[in-house]
Amino acid sequence: MRMSRRGFLVASGGLVLASALPTPAAEDRPLGWALVGLGSLSINQLMPALIKTKSAKLVALVSGHPDKAHRLAGQYNVDPAHIYNYETFDKIKDDADVDVVYIVLPNGMHAEYAVRAAKAGKHVFSEKPMANTVEQCQQMIDACKEAKKLLGIGYRMQYEPHLIEAKRLVKDGAIGKVKSVKSEFGFSIPAGVWRLDKKLAGGGPLMDVGIYCLNSTRFALGEEPVEVSATIPDANGDPRFKEVEPAMDFTLTFPSGAIAECKTSYREFVGNRLRIEGDNGNIHMEPAFSYGGLMLGVQHPGQRPQTFTPKAGDQFAAEIEDFSRCIIEGKPTRTPGEEGQRDVRIMQALYESAAQKKPMKL
Ligand code: NAD
Repeated sequence: MRMSRRGFLVASGGLVLASALPTPAAEDRPLGWALVGLGSLSINQLMPALIKTKSAKLVALVSGHPDKAHRLAGQYNVDPAHIYNYETFDKIKDDADVDVVYIVLPNGMHAEYAVRAAKAGKHVFSEKPMANTVEQCQQMIDACKEAKKLLGIGYRMQYEPHLIEAKRLVKDGAIGKVKSVKSEFGFSIPAGVWRLDKKLAGGGPLMDVGIYCLNSTRFALGEEPVEVSATIPDANGDPRFKEVEPAMDFTLTFPSGAIAECKTSYREFVGNRLRIEGDNGNIHMEPAFSYGGLMLGVQHPGQRPQTFTPKAGDQFAAEIEDFSRCIIEGKPTRTPGEEGQRDVRIMQALYESAAQKKPMKL
């Protein structure tokens, strides 16, 4: 047992004991967040989201492009003394203003920076997919455990009121016994981007956007697939797909008997939908996975569809706020490293199924 910097009792296993916590004082400063990687998601979603959070504040930037980092620091009121690059990153250890490091780099770099952040004594939040391999996920989990720091994965959909409502409806039996799920997410990708490089991306559309069909289905159903199967179409000489799959159709079989049929693609828009069919109705989300403007409907046999409009805010602000509160209050996060690792394990089984042309048991 030891006392943390924020004055909380920490058990030897690294878990902060909620019962030992003082109520956070009103004057408690928000946690300082550092963004690693200043690409599209950081600039267009995360920086604007970090203005909306009460318990988190953007205090540091890590980038290979000093001009961009200084420009963004000016725009978001970040002290330039807290700008790092990939070589100086480990100095973040001595930066007392940084509590959490948010990794927003290409997938194949998440593990390295998560381990370095944990070794620097910081809590770690990583974008999805957690990493390229189950082994890399384990390194991240081990490093955070060793450092007694919280590890969370950016599954924004698990903080999205529409999907949370869909999960509640399933759990409450609103559509009876779930029989099947249909889910699609895909788009046409331009050539020359890191998402087409196996080492940086880990895989193709499955790792990038098919993961939304997978994770949202697992979340909504509240059960884990026991068998998976997948097929990958031929690239037909399309030069974009020398290293990663152009598309994938995959099936997840759950212990309840529910079967999810999913499609993902980098060749075309194959949909943006989650449909859960039960023996007494269905739940339909479309668009299901966008950053906003989601639609959730429920229909029972012989009745008109009912539309739910839960009050939805910024998904990214919600996940950042929630992770910060978990740290402050000593609670576990609902999207821990183990959750990210589960998806990576299932996705590896899907690739294996496509390669061996047979279903894989999990
Ligand atoms: P991006 O290409 O726009 O940005 C990547 C950043 O990494 C850039 O700033 C780039 O300079 C930097 N980088 C450092 N080393 C690099 C290298 N060797 N090769 C390429 N880039 C390098 O990508 P993005 O869309 O911001 O995605 C970043 C991460 O966020 C990915 O893991 C992605 O899956 C995830 N993401 C999540 C969501 C979501 O909704 N949760 C949405 C988009 C992206």
